[in-house]
Amino acid sequence: MASLSLKNICKVYPNGFEAVKDFNLEVEDKEFIIFVGPSGCGKSTTLRMIAGLEEISSGELIIDGKLMNDVEPKDRDIAMVFQNYALYPHMTVFDNMAFGLKLRKVPKDEIKAKVEEAARILDLEKLLDRKPKALSGGQRQRVAMGRAIVRNPKVFLMDEPLSNLDAKLRVQMRSEISSLHNRLGATIIYVTHDQTEAMTLGTRIVVLKDGVIMQVDSPQKLYNEP
Ligand code: ADP
Ligand code: ADP
Repeated sequence: MASLSLKNICKVYPNGFEAVKDFNLEVEDKEFIIFVGPSGCGKSTTLRMIAGLEEISSGELIIDGKLMNDVEPKDRDIAMVFQNYALYPHMTVFDNMAFGLKLRKVPKDEIKAKVEEAARILDLEKLLDRKPKALSGGQRQRVAMGRAIVRNPKVFLMDEPLSNLDAKLRVQMRSEISSLHNRLGATIIYVTHDQTEAMTLGTRIVVLKDGVIMQVDSPQKLYNEP
């Protein structure tokens, strides 16, 4: 269960640049929200504020009725998947996936069970002892997803998770993400430049420009209307 409420959120970076201006959005439980818009329009900044990786300059972030502005990232029950995967190169696949659970002091046997289950879902069972450099791009992407799902978070934030994959893998991972969304019943906010991804995955699409929301609509309305 996770509904999000972003109320009048603004981000002013220390150099004075206003990256996000008066952002208002209500996200319902289990929605799959897509952020689109040109490079620099504030998509990543908004995701990072939701994850707690970037301070909110003003406004309120409310998740399931609770004000989150000052809650530490590790206490937010949110997992983020990055475009570059951000795997730890010196750690094995297992340890990469276990890292967030260790940080939260989850018991060892529970960590093992959760990592193995995620590995099964993502077809990584035979790769758990490898280091990231011995994986293909698609496999690395799966590890990044695995690291997110082991925590069974309420909210997934995905910042162009497929943009570094070739076209064929992108199509495959797209349908895997779609079935993960159904299976996990999570609320997802997903940044992409790819219209097909936006159309096939999104329940609603948020169009951003220069830190401002220009439009919020269903994929059908946004892309198909004459
Ligand atoms: P997007 O993800 O849509 O490409 P970002 O959220 O990364 O956009 O960036 C929004 C704007 O904020 C850009 O103009 C970017 O240059 C600027 N920006 C991002 N991070 C910082 C920062 N730490 N300091 C100043 N400006 C920043
Ligand atoms: P993305 O491609 O995901 O939008 P960027 O390449 O814009 O990311 O930014 C990468 C990193 O550089 C981020 O951590 C962001 O905060 C920082 N950054 C981006 N623009 C600026 C800026 N104008 N000044 C300072 N830091 C910035």
